[in-house]
Amino acid sequence: MEKTLILIKPDAISKKLTGIIIDRIEHLGLDMKAAKVAFVSEEIAKEHYANLAGKPFLPSVISFMRGDFNGIKDHRIYAFVYEGENAVSKVRAALGATDPAKAEPWTIRGAFGCFKDGVMQNCVHASGTPEEALREINIWFKPEEVL
Ligand code: UDP
Ligand code: MG
Repeated sequence: MEKTLILIKPDAISKKLTGIIIDRIEHLGLDMKAAKVAFVSEEIAKEHYANLAGKPFLPSVISFMRGDFNGIKDHRIYAFVYEGENAVSKVRAALGATDPAKAEPWTIRGAFGCFKDGVMQNCVHASGTPEEALREINIWFKPEEVL
């Protein structure tokens, strides 16, 4: 069955939106397979965003993902693995476009995201493809944590 990685980003945590976001994900009818509070080191953030290597905004995205933004400093995020038929595309549809300004207002990013300090502060990460999901789950979870 298809799995996807969801990360509640520091902007959503600081705005106390974790419950609302997970409620919307739960309504997709997928199964939660794993959940944890994760410490975001510089290394893990870089590995997670390997697809952005060389982009001028990568350092800002890394700082943001490490919770070093808007005057806050807390290097923890919440990580989840959800499983189900077409889990990847269902969750991405619930998120909306990467840029909160372009995301439809009824999506999570459209409703709660913003652009600030050079970063799209869009509340949630979710894997873009099933292959990306396998790579990303492996970064954040040990195999025995995702059975
Ligand atoms: N990002 C950004 N500016 C950009 C592109 C990306 O701030 O021009 C940030 C944004 O937080 C995004 C993350 O980098 O969610 C990863 O980018 P990606 O293109 O993988 O978008 P996603 O898969 O998250 O929709
Ligand atoms: Mg992506």
